[in-house]
Amino acid sequence: MSRQSETPLPLSRKDFETDQEVRWCPGCGDFAILSQVQKLLPTLGIPRENFVVISGIGCSSRIPGYTTAYGFNSVHGRALPIAQGIKLAHPELLVLVAGGDGDGFSIGGGHVPHAIRRNVDLTYILMDNQIYGLTKGQLSPTSPRGSKTASTAHGSLEDPVNPLLYVLGYGAGYVAQGTPADMAGLAEIIEEGIRYPGFAFINVQSPCVTFGEEEQQLSVQKQKMQKLKDLGHDRSDRLRAMALAQEYGIKLYTGVFYRNPDPPMTYEAAWRDLQKNLAGQAKPAGEILSQFQPS
Ligand code: SF4
Ligand code: MG
Repeated sequence: MSRQSETPLPLSRKDFETDQEVRWCPGCGDFAILSQVQKLLPTLGIPRENFVVISGIGCSSRIPGYTTAYGFNSVHGRALPIAQGIKLAHPELLVLVAGGDGDGFSIGGGHVPHAIRRNVDLTYILMDNQIYGLTKGQLSPTSPRGSKTASTAHGSLEDPVNPLLYVLGYGAGYVAQGTPADMAGLAEIIEEGIRYPGFAFINVQSPCVTFGEEEQQLSVQKQKMQKLKDLGHDRSDRLRAMALAQEYGIKLYTGVFYRNPDPPMTYEAAWRDLQKNLAGQAKPAGEILSQFQPS
């Protein structure tokens, strides 16, 4: 992506739209996420050059190319380590991570717990369509058991990964779920996730209209979805959030499962503190290098 020059505030949605052709299938749920991100970013009062969007590989991972924020479509499953590096080097940047279920919870699954336990201030949007769309419809880590896909002609014999329970288990401070069936609700949880000072995870049930199952399409989601706030869920109750998250794939709860009412220090803030505290003890470069001189 080409470098942007500084753009005077206030920004508008147009400032985040590119002239790139969006190559998702018409009706793909990923359009809803792109649209909400483009709508939201200019409202945050942050210069455009301070936004970064990082993804892995997959249909949904094309999203950085469809906004004018800095960022890139990186390596399969490696969006989180790259995003953590960017945030640690430049804590003033607002870093969004976005990508699919296969990218995040299969190829990149090993990175998720570490980003969470470090509590780097990132917003991770999982565009969860329960399929590998870009490679034409194979079983993904979140596909329901029994799914008939290009790689499981007789139906999957595996239980799916539960991304909500997974991130709650590792202690993510903000965990929410949305769907394009409720655009206002989706906008709300993305904004709140961005504003949460720590690692935020947003699972978006983003239908794949080309390879996805009927059960995951918008018409079904509209019937099925239940807003957590209408159920009177206490978002500060992590154990209750985990109980509700167990229904992933069975019920479709939307809204905030959990928001830590007392967010702990972020990794980048702790790191800066440590650097400051150790600054006075730094040895001169010559003294360090002298240890490696032959005696
Ligand atoms: Fe979206 Fe599925 Fe088309 Fe990929 S294949 S763009 S996920 S609808
Ligand atoms: Mg997918």
